[in-house]
Amino acid sequence: MRRTVSNVTIESVVGDIAAQPDMEAIVNAANAQLQSGGGVAGAIHKAAGTNLAEECRPMAPIKPGEAVISGAHNLPNKYVIHCLGPVYGADTPEDKLLAKCYRMALLLAEKNNIESVAFPAISTGAFGYPFNEATIIACRTVLRMIPELDAVNLIRFVLFDKSDLAAYEKRLYQYEEID
Ligand code: ADP
Repeated sequence: MRRTVSNVTIESVVGDIAAQPDMEAIVNAANAQLQSGGGVAGAIHKAAGTNLAEECRPMAPIKPGEAVISGAHNLPNKYVIHCLGPVYGADTPEDKLLAKCYRMALLLAEKNNIESVAFPAISTGAFGYPFNEATIIACRTVLRMIPELDAVNLIRFVLFDKSDLAAYEKRLYQYEEID
């Protein structure tokens, strides 16, 4: 599904974040060291090749809520924006830190004149953030940033399975109910 608000299209799809060739930037649910790992980081580093980890090394470590940008190497994109989500129950306040990830990623995209950005569901895997709560924060933060966006005109949420997609669709397309 997709919806357009003030010239910014937001869409949600089921797929692999490392296989979004039409997007200028993809977002990594990174670890603090910006190295490969499981889940999203594993898929991105595997597809990008070892030069991604090499490029990222001098930028590490990053703190929860922070974001940094790198090239995409063997990925079909131009950039990777690496965000460190909060570990649920450990990095507090989780909701503010998770919102900050989405915000910092979009601000970095703007700064680099990036038109399209694909996000995974940051913190909802190994970091244990309950999926529905994380979905509300992701959708609310992105929708609220729309008035600040000039360069970015396409935002895609890439979810791993259909039930994850359904959670996003419920939130994204009921804009008025998000506060
Ligand atoms: P975190 O460490 O921030 O929790 P994970 O990578 O463990 O990040 O998981 C984040 C979310 O991304 C989870 O909902 C997981 O199911 C999903 N996910 C895992 N691999 C991929 C992938 N290749 N593409 C898109 N989503 C993925």
